[in-house]
Amino acid sequence: MKTAELFENRTVFSLEVFPPKPDADESVIYDTLNELSDISPDFISVTYGAGGGHNGSKTIQIASDIKHRYGVESVAHLPCIGLKKEEAAEILDSLQAHGIENVLALRGDRRDEDAPTGDFTHASDLITFIKERCDFNVIAACYPEVHPESASAVDDLKWLRYKADCGADHLITQLFLDNRYFYDFYEKARIAGIKVPIEAGIMPVTNKRQIERMVKLCGVELPKKFVRVLEKYEHNEAALRDAGIAYAIDQITDLIAEGADGIHLYTMNYPYVAHKIYDAVQSLFAVSSCLAK
Ligand code: FAD
Repeated sequence: MKTAELFENRTVFSLEVFPPKPDADESVIYDTLNELSDISPDFISVTYGAGGGHNGSKTIQIASDIKHRYGVESVAHLPCIGLKKEEAAEILDSLQAHGIENVLALRGDRRDEDAPTGDFTHASDLITFIKERCDFNVIAACYPEVHPESASAVDDLKWLRYKADCGADHLITQLFLDNRYFYDFYEKARIAGIKVPIEAGIMPVTNKRQIERMVKLCGVELPKKFVRVLEKYEHNEAALRDAGIAYAIDQITDLIAEGADGIHLYTMNYPYVAHKIYDAVQSLFAVSSCLAK
């Protein structure tokens, strides 16, 4: 099923996982998926390391297993930085051969030391390439707090509209910790004529190093309320994990009440956390499905 078809009068709930590192025990991801599939999410997406290689084939295999072994719709991420058109075509052929219908088309993060070698400059180039070539449902990334490389919020929104015009069928946001950024961004996206569903990306923060890395990479603001929680519980692993879960539940409760199109939970391959969050908000999703938006 194409993910864009899920957003009919209800808030969609999806999960994100990442493939195991090359030297890690591969069975662990399947234990994780066993537990996550109990939640019956609308779909599970699988990240893909920019540059492809070994990790890329794992993404395809895991996305295929999610769909065919666990009976949950799947999405394969595909960053295009460094890819030649022939390589992108090969990956898309492989996705099609595995029966995968949904691709999250991304540029990928630039590494300063790499000279650009691929045929794609932006995610929009990949979206156009995919749409000209095959019948995938294409998802794209968006940034409520503006992509760190953008000259301005207006510029970022202009290029997001361009991604939608190139054929993006559905958008997923970068994580954010203050819902006001999401609501403001959502309104501006609609004013800019972006009509496709926009899922809110929520990352439950369960350790301090993780959030420090994210803030550095993505430039998300840490709200005062969040910093207080972090400072109070940073030296107690279980307390910080529980506070991170409670914070995410609070964000999701508010988003569902405001009629968000969807919630995309960055699980960090941590099923315990995903279950705790889902158990707390499950009934809200059930009610949201009854409301005409
Ligand atoms: P783009 O859409 O190309 O945007 C990058 C910058 O260029 C922005 O400033 C934008 O405003 C500008 N821009 C966009 N189009 C144009 C244009 N046509 N001309 C000029 N400027 C333009 N990375 C991975 O490597 N693997 C993953 O699996 C992965 N999954 C992700 C999932 C989600 C939901 C999100 C939000 C991000 C994910 N990322 C992943 C990270 C992503 O690759 C980075 O954020 C990257 O820096 C930008 O990717 P993009 O697709 O948004 O790029």
